Amino acid sequence: MIGPGVTAHGPPKLSQTGWLWHEAYGWHDTGRAAGYVTAQPGAQPFTHFESAETKTRFASLIEVSGLREQLVDIRPRPATIDDLHRVHSMKHINAMRAQSSNPRGGDMGDGTSPFAWGGYDIAALSAGGTLEATRAVMDGAVRNAYALVRPPGHHALPDRGMGFCMFANVAIAIEYARVHFGVDRVAVLDWDVHHGNGTETIYAQDPRTLTISIHQDRNFPTDSGDVTDNGRGRGVGSAINVPLPPGSGNGAYLDTFTRVVEPSLMRFKPELIMVAAGFDAGAADPLSAMLVTSSTYRTMTSRTVELAEQLCDGRLIMSHEGGYSPVYVPFCGLAAVEALSGLDSGIADPFEPDWLNWAGQDIQPHQEQVIARAQAAAADGLAQLGI
Ligand code: ZN
Repeated sequence: MIGPGVTAHGPPKLSQTGWLWHEAYGWHDTGRAAGYVTAQPGAQPFTHFESAETKTRFASLIEVSGLREQLVDIRPRPATIDDLHRVHSMKHINAMRAQSSNPRGGDMGDGTSPFAWGGYDIAALSAGGTLEATRAVMDGAVRNAYALVRPPGHHALPDRGMGFCMFANVAIAIEYARVHFGVDRVAVLDWDVHHGNGTETIYAQDPRTLTISIHQDRNFPTDSGDVTDNGRGRGVGSAINVPLPPGSGNGAYLDTFTRVVEPSLMRFKPELIMVAAGFDAGAADPLSAMLVTSSTYRTMTSRTVELAEQLCDGRLIMSHEGGYSPVYVPFCGLAAVEALSGLDSGIADPFEPDWLNWAGQDIQPHQEQVIARAQAAAADGLAQLGI
């Protein structure tokens, strides 16, 4: 169903959802690779997994579904040096600018995160996208917003990029909101299947910023995101990690929401909620081994909208991170945007009827053990923060 099938549900305020996308995000060029390793003797060249397709097809579905007309269009601007420098060192910013001026392009910092000539400008526009979506929510132009930005941001460290991320889009937006809107307490909920190590590192010593990462245990990076990693110094307790075992599906994710995410956010009482929205825990993703389907992204988004309504006047920004199945990411993204906006496109996920019947969708005992440990660690940590 296209266009005319779109109907609004719920109170009118929920249709005040911002949508941000820019064609330049599809022009960020990661080139040829054997998935994510450099093509080499024995490894046939293929597309890089972090390709434009997963995002452009999500943007296409928002357009073709008819949803886009009912969302408030937000335009990005390039993040300035000042915007970037609140989070990143000048050494990193200058290194990216220098490589970006090379016609052969460069790498963000770990050897598997390539970018082409001009890649700095697209990454600055990506950071400026999350920033402008945040500004629109903070100044009341919209109630909440989805920023479909690229390249992603949650692995980027203050001094270098990694994991396909050049700049920490979410952190840059948070710091902008602190400077320009006086925001103090912020929660970052990261359900990308990979550990939000960059965001966690940036805020490890900051008791005003709660980071919650739900990820596949030691998928990427392979040395961070344990239950026991909970912040440093004054920030002990401000980081919560739920490292789910491979094979986790809808049951494990929803249980994590009930036992870790909701009680932690209710205790922390943020003034603003940011979601690092990756869809790479999806059942078809080539960079993980999880079983999540679109209805769980819908439910997690709805429950986050409810938390934002209860805690912070609805202020919620979703910033796109990973998700590497070109055919499945659009359906997960559509479900999230529908839940965020209260709109219904009438388009069903054609994969889900099969995948809901896969064995392992219900929570398994070994998954429950991890969630129980994370629940206890989160409660202890918040107590240490004095909350
Ligand atoms: Zn990811």
